[in-house]
Amino acid sequence: MKKIQMVDLQSQYQNIKETVDASIHEVLNSSSYINGPFVKEFQADLEQYLNIKHVIPCANGTDALQIAMMGLGLQPGDEVITVDFTFAATVEVIGLLNLTPVLVDVELDTFNINIEALKKAITPETKAIVPVHLFGQCANMEAILAIAKEHDLFVIEDNAQAIGADYTFSDGTTQKSGTMGHVGTTSFFPSKNLGCYGDGGAIFTNDDALAHTLRGMVNHGMYQRYYHDVVGVNSRLDSIQAAVLKAKLPLLDSYCAARRKAADYYTERFKNSEVIITPTLRDFSSHVFHQYTLRITNGKRDALHKHLIQKGIANSIYYPVPLHAQKAYKDSRYKEEDFAATNQLVQEVISLPMHTELEEDQLKYITETVLEFLQ
Ligand SMILES: *Cc1c(COP(=O)(O)O)cnc(C)c1O
Repeated sequence: MKKIQMVDLQSQYQNIKETVDASIHEVLNSSSYINGPFVKEFQADLEQYLNIKHVIPCANGTDALQIAMMGLGLQPGDEVITVDFTFAATVEVIGLLNLTPVLVDVELDTFNINIEALKKAITPETKAIVPVHLFGQCANMEAILAIAKEHDLFVIEDNAQAIGADYTFSDGTTQKSGTMGHVGTTSFFPSKNLGCYGDGGAIFTNDDALAHTLRGMVNHGMYQRYYHDVVGVNSRLDSIQAAVLKAKLPLLDSYCAARRKAADYYTERFKNSEVIITPTLRDFSSHVFHQYTLRITNGKRDALHKHLIQKGIANSIYYPVPLHAQKAYKDSRYKEEDFAATNQLVQEVISLPMHTELEEDQLKYITETVLEFLQ
C-alpha cells in the first residue's frame, strides 16, 4: 500500500483537471489578475449556494476574521469570546486588533463551544462571540444566537472548517453554516473542504451596510478609487484562485458526501472498540467532516500516532496545545479548572486521513491498523 496522506489534493485535481486548467488559462489570457470576472462570478455563485445577500472575497480565512471584526467596529478593550480548542487564527486576530480574547471551554463530545461556559464568560465589556464550527459540524447556533440577542452581542461564525454544512433550527428551518450570525468567515486554503490552489477566503453577511463597509475595507478602505474613508487592508482573492473555486463550488456537495461516506466507514469499524470514541453527531447540524477526529481513551494516543506513521498512514493531532496554554495567548485571567474538556481533548484526539478521494482499500487498511494496535 502506498503512503496514505491526510489530504490527497493531487487525485482530486486529476479528476477536475480539464475544467480547472481551462479556467486558469482563461484568466491568463485575460490578464485580469485581480478582481477580474471570475472573482465576481464566484462571488455570485457562492451567494446563491449559501443563500446569503453578500459574499466579500478576501485573501485568506485569517484576514476574513480580522476584517469582519474591523467592519463591526470592535474597539480595543472590547471582549470577544471564543473557544480554547481551535486553530490559533481565531484568537490571533482578536489579539492583533487589541481586542481582549476571552477563551472558553468546549464540549467534550462535539469539540464545539460549551454554552454554559459561554454564558459564564459574558461581562459588560463583551461585544462579540466567535463560535467555530470545528471539524465540520456546527456549534449550537440556536443557543448562541439567543444569548447574543439577550446581551446585544455580535456573532461572527468562523466557518473555515464547515462550509457546506446545514443547520436546522427547532422550528424546522435550515440555513447554511456561516450565514446565521451577523457575519460569517471562511478559508479556501487548499486542504479546506472548498479549497483553492493558494490562499483565499471570504466573509458573508446579510447586512447591506456592513457588506459595503467590508468591501471597502478589504481594498485599502477605498470606496472610490484613491479616496480612503477608513483604514483598510490589502486582502483580495486573486482571479486564478477564483477560477479554481468557481470550478470546484458545484462539486462541494458531492465532496461533502464523499467525506461523509469515508466517515461512516470509519465509524462503523470503530464503533465497538472500548478505547475509541467516534465523532458525536448532533441532530441540528449536518457534518461535513473537514476532519475525522477520534478520541483515544486508554492513554495510547501518542503511541498510535507514531505507529500509524510507521505504517505509512498520515495522521494529525488537531490540536496538541490549548490556546490558553500557548505562549502567545497565556493570561493570568485563565484558570485551569475552566478548561477541563480542552485539557482532556489535547491528550486524546487524533485525526485520520480525510479527503474526497479515499478508497475502500485504504479505509480498510487504516481501520485495521488502528484496531490491531489498540487491541
Ligand atoms: C484554516 C482556519 C482559519 C484560517 O484560514 P487561513 O485561510 O489559513 O488564514 C481560521 N479558522 C479556522 C478554524 C481554520 O481552520
